[in-house]
Amino acid sequence: MDTPPFSELGLPATLLAAIETLGYERPSPIQAMSIPPALLGKDLVGLSATGSGKTAAFTLPALAKLDVKLPFPQVLILCPTRELAVQVCEEVHRLGAKMPGLQATPVYGGAPIDRQLRALRNGAQLVVGTPGRLLDHLRRGSFDPSRIKMAVLDEADRMLDMGFKDEMDELLAALPADRQTLFFSATMNPGVSRLIQKFGNSPEIVEIQQKARTVSTVDQSYFEVRQRSKVEVLSRILDMNPPRLGIIFCNTKRSVDECTEDLVNRGYAADRLHGDITQQMRERVLKRFREGAVEILVATDVAARGLDIEEIDIVFNYDLPTDPEDYVHRIGRTGRAGRTGRAVSFVYGREIYRMQSIERYTRHVVRRERIPSVEQVEGRRADLIFDDLKERLESGKFDSYQDSIDRLLEQGHTPTDIAGALVTMIREASGREGSAIEEDREPERPARRENNRDARPPRDVRHENHQRDDRGPRQERFERAPRDTQGSEAGMTRLFLSLGKTHGVMAKEIVGMLYREAGLPDGCLGRISLFPKHSLVDVPEQFVSQVMDRTKTARLRGRPFRMDVDRGPGDRA
Ligand code: AMP
Repeated sequence: MDTPPFSELGLPATLLAAIETLGYERPSPIQAMSIPPALLGKDLVGLSATGSGKTAAFTLPALAKLDVKLPFPQVLILCPTRELAVQVCEEVHRLGAKMPGLQATPVYGGAPIDRQLRALRNGAQLVVGTPGRLLDHLRRGSFDPSRIKMAVLDEADRMLDMGFKDEMDELLAALPADRQTLFFSATMNPGVSRLIQKFGNSPEIVEIQQKARTVSTVDQSYFEVRQRSKVEVLSRILDMNPPRLGIIFCNTKRSVDECTEDLVNRGYAADRLHGDITQQMRERVLKRFREGAVEILVATDVAARGLDIEEIDIVFNYDLPTDPEDYVHRIGRTGRAGRTGRAVSFVYGREIYRMQSIERYTRHVVRRERIPSVEQVEGRRADLIFDDLKERLESGKFDSYQDSIDRLLEQGHTPTDIAGALVTMIREASGREGSAIEEDREPERPARRENNRDARPPRDVRHENHQRDDRGPRQERFERAPRDTQGSEAGMTRLFLSLGKTHGVMAKEIVGMLYREAGLPDGCLGRISLFPKHSLVDVPEQFVSQVMDRTKTARLRGRPFRMDVDRGPGDRA
């Protein structure tokens, strides 16, 4: 669905600035349809599945309504679980990052009440909570409902399923009658309908219609991949079947920039397109892509619009789209003009439910694939070299190097050894040394619920996932290590390495050296950034001393180097 830009939805500049920082390029359909009426003060019923961007659809108007100078609750968001309350509150903080004085607090059961009491007493303006604990605060007098301007029910159907009907009734009845209410639910059922009748004020209904589509000439599969291993898995897939042209879709500009940088560091002919790229640059990139000088184009949905190139062999959903229709558009870029194409998606944790809604939307089951091992990639690369070699031999188009080869033979090397050494050299020169990844183990996928229109899993499974997902991919999207020094991902330590681009060092060589020399286990390396005279590598805290000990005598490109915990630009010289 084509949506207008965020700037046309009537949002204040502070929120637009935060959206820009997050790299959201355009609103998802539920956002585009909910934000304008909500800003006008209307009640709303939003029917939309998990993963459609509904959190921002209600958080943005809620923040727009809120006065940060007033130290009392003005917005109440009800969520079914503690995990969801925490996640929503995180999104509130991200979207409200440019609103100094904003105080939002999550309030849920199973946690000590003191801190919550303090946050409420200290003037929280936005409260996100589970119905039971909130009612507790209401009864104790610690939550003042009298000046609430907006109430949001997130996953109303699920709160009812979980037996929160009475708590919700009591809470909503305690709010001022002239407040605005936004109801969000994945499904409409009699319980939800009763709530809307009782507590809504002629709400506008926003439903994201999902027309089923099929995409038949495209082979669709997905891999379970953690955020930090995406580039490694991408490289392995690209190396197994080098495409002539491929497109990698990301959801944000930042993701496009990071992915492109990582691919270029690994030696791929990649370039990028997103909303901040000038028209002139865009044309240059597209020309190079058409000519094949750029083999891999990394793009956002908006930037790839209108791109009409037929020979694309593979499309990656590096980030799964929030709108299933975008999935269809994305993968429709391949498999054109009678050719077959391939679409590969990266999915992790809770995103599996988004993949399932895509499957229902397209009425097509997407096959799960196992990540190829480093050995498989190596074997495949050797096969490709031998295929080329055979073709070259058959064509007769090669120089003989007779004298040099004779000299080697005279020194006692056999023809087989000479050929083997040559192939190894070719492989090393063209190759990318793989790093290990956590996803090599069997991942879990919730049981598929056939013929079930409701996307969501049974409650216990969901709960497990919420718990596991507390610090899962959602978190990683926003807390990825920034470009240079401002800190590494949670649990990772950034190491300084005294060699960089001017020494001819490539990221893949650092990866290879670290796994070889330091014997790191699967899945542990984080981001690698190359600078002219040094590089920075994110390593899990627990392996820092192992890495520093074992690489003392190691060399990169034949040079010794220094490796140390990075202490920022001042110390690096
Ligand atoms: P939700 O349905 O609210 O759980 O959102 C699903 C995911 O999409 C979250 O990780 C959001 O941060 C992300 N998201 C929400 N809106 C957008 C947008 N307009 N563009 C890109 N990503 C978004």
